Amino acid sequence: MGTAGIGLPVMLSNETILASVCLALALVSLVLLAALVAARRDTRFVAELARKRAARINEFVRTACLAEEIAGIGIWECDPATGRQQWSDGLRKIFGVEGDEPLVDGDAETMLFANNIDLVHAVRERLDKDGPYQLHYELYGFDGELRSIEVKACNLKSQSGGTDRVVAVVRDDTDRIERVRELEFSRAAAVREASRARELAATDPLTGLANRRSAMERLDSLIVDARRSTMPLVLVVFDIDHFKSVNDTYGHVEGDKVLKKVAQIAQDQAREDDVIGRVGGEEFIWVVPGATETIARVMSERLRLAIAEGSSTDKVPAVTISAGIAELDPQDTSLTLFARADSALYAAKSKGRNRVQLAA
Ligand code: GH3
Ligand code: MG
Ligand code: MG
Repeated sequence: MGTAGIGLPVMLSNETILASVCLALALVSLVLLAALVAARRDTRFVAELARKRAARINEFVRTACLAEEIAGIGIWECDPATGRQQWSDGLRKIFGVEGDEPLVDGDAETMLFANNIDLVHAVRERLDKDGPYQLHYELYGFDGELRSIEVKACNLKSQSGGTDRVVAVVRDDTDRIERVRELEFSRAAAVREASRARELAATDPLTGLANRRSAMERLDSLIVDARRSTMPLVLVVFDIDHFKSVNDTYGHVEGDKVLKKVAQIAQDQAREDDVIGRVGGEEFIWVVPGATETIARVMSERLRLAIAEGSSTDKVPAVTISAGIAELDPQDTSLTLFARADSALYAAKSKGRNRVQLAA
């Protein structure tokens, strides 16, 4: 009982010892209880964390699917060593794979094969590539529709530097390609239309020959060529004799037939590089590049005879022509050349028609 001083053993009663033990036990229990509560809280925390993470992953997958849908793309992954592939939902949609059953041998991969497309082989050939690369294919989907597919792939390198995974974004490019084709088609049609319009604007509708404006433009350009190549050039202007009386006697329709016949005969007589044009009612020009006055005279005589014979034997009223010939002089423009040939024509008319006259 009591203490004899510090450090001296103290005599305790049994009750005191019992009370102390009970107190110690109670304390231990409390500590254990607290530890248990803490452990349960930890477990709940971990479970909650896992649930949140799973929710976030789900959300991410849904966002990825939505993004695939919005962008019209699909993700294709491949292990080049084994050839194992993974197809995202978006990719299955692009290829027309129905339902959400897992990809198994015999569906989309088989379809690639059926289209003679081996993507695994294609990426294996490009395993050394750094950075993304592109492939384009046309293939029939499960629905039988032809699709244009653009594949943008990238090699994922391992630490050793080799490619252990290839990831590709596949895009259904069908609509864009279709639009481009339609655009090209419309552009080609517009170009054809424009060229047809130009052709019509340059053509005399009755005879199909170059009209006055077009024939004179071509004369201008042939004069430039002749000067550049120092080759001669001759202009022949010819006109149907007494054509008014053809109209008066046989009517305008018959007159038109004569004009067509004369145009056709002249065209037949012309060489490939020559230009024949109808420059007035029954007046024509014949540009003969490379010819001298002498040669052109022979050619014009031949034309005169051909028209005299051809028109009379072809069930159209017989006509003759008169022609004036002028060879290009160094100081000539197309207008002065034309004026000289036209004067020669006038002279041929004055001398009695049905003849060829050289310019003075
Ligand atoms: P010349 O021998 O002096 O050339 O006499 P011409 O009668 O041929 O010449 P003129 O200038 O007196 O008459 C030309 C005629 O050509 C008058 C016109 O009605 C006719 N003519 C002009 N263009 C056409 C056409 O497109 N069709 C027809 N049928 N006749 C036309
Ligand atoms: Mg005439
Ligand atoms: Mg005339």
